[in-house]
Amino acid sequence: MTDIDGRAVAKEIRADVAAAAAKLRADGTVPTFAVVVPTDDEGTAWYVRSIKKSAEKEGLDCRVVQLDSPGRDEIIAKLQELSADPDVHGIICQTPLPEGVTLAEVGGHISPLKDIDGANATNLGRLGAGLRTWPPATAEAVLELLKREDLTLSGARAVVVGRSTVVGKPAALLLLNESATVTVCHSRTKDLAAVCREADVLVAAVGRAGMIGADFVKPGATVIDVGTNPTDDGGLVGDVDYAAVAEVAGRLTPVPGGVGPVTTALLLRHVIEAAELSETHP
Ligand code: NAP
Repeated sequence: MTDIDGRAVAKEIRADVAAAAAKLRADGTVPTFAVVVPTDDEGTAWYVRSIKKSAEKEGLDCRVVQLDSPGRDEIIAKLQELSADPDVHGIICQTPLPEGVTLAEVGGHISPLKDIDGANATNLGRLGAGLRTWPPATAEAVLELLKREDLTLSGARAVVVGRSTVVGKPAALLLLNESATVTVCHSRTKDLAAVCREADVLVAAVGRAGMIGADFVKPGATVIDVGTNPTDDGGLVGDVDYAAVAEVAGRLTPVPGGVGPVTTALLLRHVIEAAELSETHP
């Protein structure tokens, strides 16, 4: 079994990002994105600090916009304000959101030209239509990792476990756009293990630690583990039972060190693309 090394892939992407950021700066544009943080959550705060640090290391500016106990209207107003700000090229609205507010509804107020994490349903629609867009970075990270492997997605059987708007659905659309034969599973899927065993490419995006066991995996299959589940000792584990699945799979992403670093690197790449777009469409 081969480990798919997300950190190495992220390093390559980030080197390109740093070079592009230097060029933009030399042309007078500081590639800048805003992260709107609507809740006071320790896990989120840690994640946002880490994105900001990564961004600044590669020459990007990251504005963290912390909102205190905002309602839906305040979140929307902030996203609209940032969408109209010519100095901000990309916008992320961080989850979790306050009770009763969904990313699908507030994301519609991020300009599609600044929607670097695919939160605006317009961009999900463009993905469905096979048009150029920024997919949610996590879903794109799944494809980025697969495309760097020596495997043919066209005609491959792909099974995605999870149908969220931010991961499962866009990952399935991206695989479909590569001509894979895609099945999307969820909590009502019957005989999940048997469906997963049909997969040449299995993507786990559930949020349940270790639920994908060896009996879910066809021998030699490629398994991408999107899950990030905190452990009691402050660590992180995926949705895949790594030790068991490593005995069966051909390739497997570890957690941490798989999808996560590539997701961050792609977000930075999207900021660069948005800043370049602003130069041609100010
Ligand atoms: P989510 O919105 O909670 O969606 C989970 C999906 O899993 C749902 O579609 C749900 O089905 C399905 N599911 C739940 N229990 C199941 C079961 N027993 N059998 C089959 N399907 C089941 O989660 P998400 O936002 O997509 O995130 C999924 C995981 O990815 C989480 O661990 C999250 O932390 C991680 N994640 C990682 C990154 C990264 O950068 N690495 C980024 C984002 C998310 P229903 O639709 O039927 O409820």
